[in-house]
Amino acid sequence: MRDPSSAPSRVSQNSGEKPRTNQGLKRKIIRFCRGEGADLVGFAPAERWDEAGEVPPDFRPRALWPPANTVIVIGMEMPLPIVETTPSVLHKELYDTSNRKLDGLAYDLTRFLNRLGQASFFFPRDGYGSLRALRENNLAAFSHVMAAKYAGLGTIGASHNLLTPEFGPRVRFVSVFTEAVLSPDPLLEKELCIRCAACAKCCPKGAIHMREDQIIGDYDKTACLEMTEELTARRCYPCGICTKVCPIGKDRALYKQTRAMKKYLGEAEALGKNPDDPEYRPWTQVRRYGVAKSRIPKDPKEGNP
Ligand code: SF4
Ligand code: SF4
Repeated sequence: MRDPSSAPSRVSQNSGEKPRTNQGLKRKIIRFCRGEGADLVGFAPAERWDEAGEVPPDFRPRALWPPANTVIVIGMEMPLPIVETTPSVLHKELYDTSNRKLDGLAYDLTRFLNRLGQASFFFPRDGYGSLRALRENNLAAFSHVMAAKYAGLGTIGASHNLLTPEFGPRVRFVSVFTEAVLSPDPLLEKELCIRCAACAKCCPKGAIHMREDQIIGDYDKTACLEMTEELTARRCYPCGICTKVCPIGKDRALYKQTRAMKKYLGEAEALGKNPDDPEYRPWTQVRRYGVAKSRIPKDPKEGNP
């Protein structure tokens, strides 16, 4: 875990950011999150949303909760060997578990801060009640990805995922808003995306398009949602193939998967020719069990909330 308390505070001279010196409280928060299983913790001052001007005003922390001074962003790893099996029931269970743990941790941190007299609240992981709701309005009230970027935890890649040095995009985030004024973590200055286009090439829906003029690609949300709908109907959502194939992240070295790109890029074609291709056998073995081959009706996330 990056230890934000050891990072230099970056309060720009002209930004209007409040002086932030509450290192004791910041250390307590980091200790609390670490003790509860967080892999990453970052601190973003609410002013960063205004300074950057990338997020529409209604979606910024103070528009959602005016007392907010700091957004604390907590990340948990999605272990690569499970992500590699996607779409599978294993990946679905990991996704659900990480959401549950992140929401639990954010809830506990909120109450911890409230007990210390620092009014706080958390924005849960998945802020939608059904896929129909996303069909009607495919926007979240608050972006944890942008919050993680402003908390210095990573940069946004071509795939629109937040890439972190530790886990690439294989990490999920939750955010806690607090009125506490805490020293911010520096933004990552170096872009992590190397524009390899693996995410675009492997996306089964062709939802990601690389751009010449910028790192962040064009992203077809509706095409991606179609994939989610198909997988939800079989109870093995989400897709996450763009997170699986991204070469960024020290987790690849841990799992000795730094040279997997050829395997990823050839997977669809190889399995199209031979569903039992031995090179992919561990993944296909997992995918064959616990998942319906056809659509299952009446999924709670498909219908009415
Ligand atoms: S989640 Fe799947 S469908 Fe959506 S952009 Fe990533 S690879 Fe494509
Ligand atoms: S797969 Fe390649 S292009 Fe896509 S986000 Fe990762 S580094 Fe960037």
